[in-house]
Amino acid sequence: MSRTARPHLPVRPIWLCRVCGHTWPCGAARLSLLAEYREDRTAC
Ligand SMILES: [Zn+2]
Repeated sequence: MSRTARPHLPVRPIWLCRVCGHTWPCGAARLSLLAEYREDRTAC
């Protein structure tokens, strides 16, 4: 299994994920955004 290191970032100005092609934020992008948010703010 090869790890895809490509981040799920939006292609502007159409805001589609450059990896999935789904409307951004896609599922993976949301997860990464949530992870970053939790790292910044440890509040519940
Ligand atoms: Zn994606």
